Amino acid sequence: MYGLTAADLEIQARARGFADELIPYEAEAEANDGRLSDELEKAHHERAIELGLHATNLPRSVGGQGCTTLQQVLVQEQVGRVTNALAWSMDTPPAWWVDVANDYQRERWLLPSARGEISECYAITEEGAGSDVAAIQATARRDGDDYVLDGEKWHVTSFEEASYVFFQAVLTTGEHAGQQALFVVDVDAPGVRVVRTPAYTHSIGHAHPIVAFEGVRVPASHLVGTEADGMSFVYEWFRFERLMVAARCLGATERLIDEATAFAKERIVDGSPLIERQLVQAMLADSLTELFGARSMTYETARSVDEGVDVKVLHARSSMVKLYASETAGRVADRAVQIFGGRGYMRENVAERIWREVRVERIWEGASEIQQLIIADQLAKRGRAALV
Ligand SMILES: Cc1cc2nc3c(=O)[nH]c(=O)nc-3n(C[C@H](O)[C@H](O)[C@H](O)COP(=O)(O)OP(=O)(O)OC[C@H]3O[C@@H](n4cnc5c(N)ncnc54)[C@H](O)[C@@H]3O)c2cc1C
Repeated sequence: MYGLTAADLEIQARARGFADELIPYEAEAEANDGRLSDELEKAHHERAIELGLHATNLPRSVGGQGCTTLQQVLVQEQVGRVTNALAWSMDTPPAWWVDVANDYQRERWLLPSARGEISECYAITEEGAGSDVAAIQATARRDGDDYVLDGEKWHVTSFEEASYVFFQAVLTTGEHAGQQALFVVDVDAPGVRVVRTPAYTHSIGHAHPIVAFEGVRVPASHLVGTEADGMSFVYEWFRFERLMVAARCLGATERLIDEATAFAKERIVDGSPLIERQLVQAMLADSLTELFGARSMTYETARSVDEGVDVKVLHARSSMVKLYASETAGRVADRAVQIFGGRGYMRENVAERIWREVRVERIWEGASEIQQLIIADQLAKRGRAALV
């Protein structure tokens, strides 16, 4: 089905096996605010590397796995079945960096990231700039051979685990003053400080602190690409990550359907199993149908990336799959909780955890409304036939 090759099926099975190894640790993680012991987290990370599931998105030239986009989707889909972000033990370092990283960036951060020795995080969003990335207030001022960075960033996921952070800022000097540029900053650089670490809905080991950058001085070699590159890396990241969000939502949706179906078969109400009740059947039937739709369009979009389809078309398709798969996961999670009844409201129940965890899939990497705006904009500009 889906025209997967032998190589596709092999990596899919490998990722499924890894997910199945992680699932038994979910309850322990949930009971500990999403955290496992340092030894277990290290062991899972090493296992991901051993299985060839780390840096699937990077080319072999920098030590990545050189997977096709479809294969990356297959991997992310499988690990999307796991709760509490336990599968973050494998990373996808930024592939867009490979072509633009200077020698210093390549040796210092990119290659060690590909080897799984260090990891990155992203500081783009601000209190007054989320959906509207163009409203960013953080600044980068050129001073001799350095840049001086200032700003406060919100929701910096994995800041505590990362070695370096991508910092998006508005240039205040030079030919490109007023435009945005991207910088790499070591998380322990002088002037970088955690303001506070708010609690979030999900129980995962990685926090999302608010981080202040106060007069952070970095050499010009920390600029990613050129001053003229603006938001292009952010957009490239969005296209990739929206597809991967969709893939992980497919995995979550599949697990919800499997678990809710199994429960509905064994739970006897008034003498017969829930699965024989038509109201429950309707919920499961709708969920399965929506999974089929979401999966088909996600695989097809991944293929269109591999085929080198026009980047604007890919931008719209990535938005469509992110929108549809994340909204599907949200609906299915809600139905699964309902099917489990009171058990579905207990944190030890997988449906409850997924229900909380997939909520953010409709918000980060561009909220659903932003995906709708992008899709409608492309429809108006290019017409239906170019997109679907
Ligand atoms: C758990 C978590 C982790 C995150 N991790 C990171 C990270 O690592 N790095 C990072 O930089 N950011 C991160 N983010 C930020 C995330 O990308 C933003 O929250 C997201 O882009 C939405 O921006 P916002 O929160 O400012 O919402 P807002 O932009 O304030 O939007 C609020 C609501 O208004 C809607 N809206 C906005 N504009 C329009 C419009 N024009 N038309 C109609 N509706 C609109 C939105 O869809 C949304 O529903 C994270 C967020 C969360 C919750």
